[in-house]
Amino acid sequence: MTAPTPLKTIPVARPSFGLDEEKAVLEVLRSGWVSQGARVAEFERQFAKYVGAPYAVAVSSCTAALHLALVVSGVKPGDEVLCPSLSFIATANAIVHAGACPVFVDIDQATYNIDPRCIESAITPRTRAILAVHQIGLPAPLAEIGEIASRLGLLVIEDAACAIGAEYRSRRVGLPHTTMACFSFHPRKVLTTGEGGMVTTADEQVAARLRRLRQHAMTVSDLTRHSSQTVVTESYDEVGYNYRMTDLQAAVGLVQLQRLPEMLARRRSLAARYSSQLCSLPWLVVPHEPVDCRSNFQSYMVRLKDDAPLSRDQLMQTLLNRGISSRRGIMAIHRESPYRRNDWERRLPATNAVTDATLILPLFHNMTEEEQDYVIDCIQCAD
Ligand SMILES: *Cc1c(COP(=O)(O)O)cnc(C)c1O
Repeated sequence: MTAPTPLKTIPVARPSFGLDEEKAVLEVLRSGWVSQGARVAEFERQFAKYVGAPYAVAVSSCTAALHLALVVSGVKPGDEVLCPSLSFIATANAIVHAGACPVFVDIDQATYNIDPRCIESAITPRTRAILAVHQIGLPAPLAEIGEIASRLGLLVIEDAACAIGAEYRSRRVGLPHTTMACFSFHPRKVLTTGEGGMVTTADEQVAARLRRLRQHAMTVSDLTRHSSQTVVTESYDEVGYNYRMTDLQAAVGLVQLQRLPEMLARRRSLAARYSSQLCSLPWLVVPHEPVDCRSNFQSYMVRLKDDAPLSRDQLMQTLLNRGISSRRGIMAIHRESPYRRNDWERRLPATNAVTDATLILPLFHNMTEEEQDYVIDCIQCAD
């Protein structure tokens, strides 16, 4: 039997922009100042306030944010940084950009987050830091990770790429519960500026160095020079980067931040609808939120049980035949060629099991309940 041609395709994700974002971009274009300037500074202030962190530093992506966070933490060539393999590859790439070596730690199969019980056996004399990923918006167990880290003298940095608005122990991610948290504004995330990233921190010195490093290590910002009544000459005291966000992006970010409570509420409501309908399927596992965590549902990921009547790829194809896009679940970085090493397959059993059996279902702000019911129907009939 051939599947009927679907009328339209339901995407897995789609950003939501309105007239306010359009207006904000136009205003910046017409102002004549499009690079990092007043809008970026305002976006940083509002973002810091939202997450409850004293400082926020905007950059060009979360990968750039993670790289700078590692650099200002003093991570250097020869160091090892622990992180999950079950994550987007940028987590490990940022560690390599800092000259260090990622050491993968297995995950907890209930939450898909790093398993604190697997951390200590991965530590060597070269371990400097733990990069804790909040998996598709579900906070990692920061208390357990923090306890191990402080006992062993390690730094903790949060890869909060997906986690804007997520809560750990009733406080938003990015407080920071640790030293620094790094966020992404890529269109696949909850709040988007096209491309963009942010580091939040409670340390004034750290924030100041991040601000310099993102703009070629220049001691005086463009904005300061521009608004100064006297001649100011900058200097460059170390080798920096060009990791600047533009005012065009920040203007969009400011509008999206205003809309964030509404966007989070919509995502959580769609996720709850999925779970209430899909939890009765005997071959499917719906997302689990521990009592001290609140996800932002950046993605809604389900897992097929070992005895499922079809494979993950078969389910994805069945959905695609009916006009529904899905994506494989979170990747396993250790399986990609730059990171392949003989013993990872053996040392990461939970990561392997989860990456092979999970898929991400459509969930986006403007998804209608009718569209979602159609997805649910197609899954319920898939076996
Ligand atoms: C998306 C993502 C990143 C990279 O973010 P960019 O802004 O695209 O650089 C890093 N880590 C995780 C866990 C992500 O999901």
